[in-house]
Amino acid sequence: MSTIDWAARAADLRPDGRALIDGKRVDAADGQTFAKHSPIDNRLLGAVARGQAADIDAAVLAARAAFDDRRWAGKAPAVRKKILQRFADKILAAKEELALLETLDMGKPIQYSLSVDVPSTARCIAWYAEAVDKIYDEIAPTPDSALALITREAMGVIGAIVPWNYPMIMAAWKLGPALAAGNSVVLKPSEKSPYTALRLAELAIEAGIPPGVFNVVPGFGHEAGEALALHMEVDAIGFTGSTRVGRRMLDYAGRSNLKRVYNELGGKSAFVVFDDFKDLARAARTVAGSMFFNQGESCNAPSRVLVQASVADEFVRLVAAEAPKYAPGDPLNPATELGALVDETQLKTVLGYIDAGHAEGGRCVTGGRQARAETGGYYVEPTVFDGIRNDMKIAREEIFGPVMSVIRFQDEAEALALANGSAYGLQASVWSDNINRAHRVARGLRAGTVHVNQYDEDDITVPFGGYKQSGNGRDKSLHAFDKYTELKTTWIRID
Ligand code: NAD
Repeated sequence: MSTIDWAARAADLRPDGRALIDGKRVDAADGQTFAKHSPIDNRLLGAVARGQAADIDAAVLAARAAFDDRRWAGKAPAVRKKILQRFADKILAAKEELALLETLDMGKPIQYSLSVDVPSTARCIAWYAEAVDKIYDEIAPTPDSALALITREAMGVIGAIVPWNYPMIMAAWKLGPALAAGNSVVLKPSEKSPYTALRLAELAIEAGIPPGVFNVVPGFGHEAGEALALHMEVDAIGFTGSTRVGRRMLDYAGRSNLKRVYNELGGKSAFVVFDDFKDLARAARTVAGSMFFNQGESCNAPSRVLVQASVADEFVRLVAAEAPKYAPGDPLNPATELGALVDETQLKTVLGYIDAGHAEGGRCVTGGRQARAETGGYYVEPTVFDGIRNDMKIAREEIFGPVMSVIRFQDEAEALALANGSAYGLQASVWSDNINRAHRVARGLRAGTVHVNQYDEDDITVPFGGYKQSGNGRDKSLHAFDKYTELKTTWIRID
């Protein structure tokens, strides 16, 4: 466990909230700022540039100029690789500063900012760096009279719009493949978590990424976000956020230049436990750990727990015993497992869903209340509802807080129908000691990622994304290059 006095470091921190455009820190063109408070205790962290259309325009034009003169795309792949590797090294070297900024900004426990968010961000950048000079293009099997080259080319200017729940990791999932492929990027972080994105851009420049290639404009969604998604010089939008705003991204593209839109959206993931799975205690530990990680503010949180009726009472008892281990605590204390929700709006949303769970007849077996209100921050107890039906509000809608719903089923067919009975399709898991059933159900689940007898395995090497209204396209793995490159066919006549 870290011995650093994080509270003392936090007291000394003066984060720079200015935008980073064309290699320079700048105020918003009209000088406007917004106040950024920490959800830990509502302390003021600083003033952040409130980017608007003019700032987005400056950033996109800088990105376009950088792309057109090939100051980045034109570098040899091995050179881009070296620079991106240096960028990853710099992220690791700044790990304590970045972890503290992330925790103060959005409330997650410092132990996880340090052990998950910073290393995953660095690994993502390094992994795409390593790929740059190892990917080959194709030659098509055509007749002798011609040669057909199939090549991948960088797309141009990528607009990245990301949420606040994993601010650095979500940014890295866009930056890694987009920059490695040779694009320029304009990143719009969430107004609820702007600081680490700005610091990442400084580190990128220190590492040797040329000015203009990676720009960050903080601001609100309906201002900076909308301006970026509507901009005629942006070739693609890599969006991660809510399904509600994802719909808008498609609309913005339709109203502007038909830019490609890749949406990584919400989820309501099913965790399906059959009575032939013997180690119920492990399944209970896993679902609690995955559900309450990051305060339940994870797109892939297993928020719908489907349990076969014959073992449901036992399973609920086991989960109820696990939940209190995630009691909310001070995010700056390295022992804390569950931190603060991102802001007051999110607190009210989550408490509203808990009220809805009660009103619809759910039985709250543990948690259900606000916590640590005396700190001025936004905390909710880990909460488990039993007796939920799939058509209830808390089972249908993404809560994005530490609230789990237990739904009982009788047999495999009902389990599959309930699991797939959601507008979302991001992730799911099946727990069974019967290998045939495990495979059958895994095949039947309509989700981008399916786990069998575990939930939290994850790696940059595998694609991540959703079926249905959880989005389109995939982040992570080599498949992510598909989003940020165009395929070109070049026919050459051979006499
Ligand atoms: P959000 O949709 O409210 O905001 C996401 C980003 O979009 C922010 O930067 C925001 O400023 C911007 N934005 C908001 N309104 C906009 C508008 N009108 N025009 C342009 N931009 C706009 O989402 P959030 O609350 O920040 O994040 C939580 C959501 O993200 C959840 O639904 C979660 O499931 C989803 N998420 C998905 C994944 C995934 O990989 N599928 C990963 C993490 C989070």
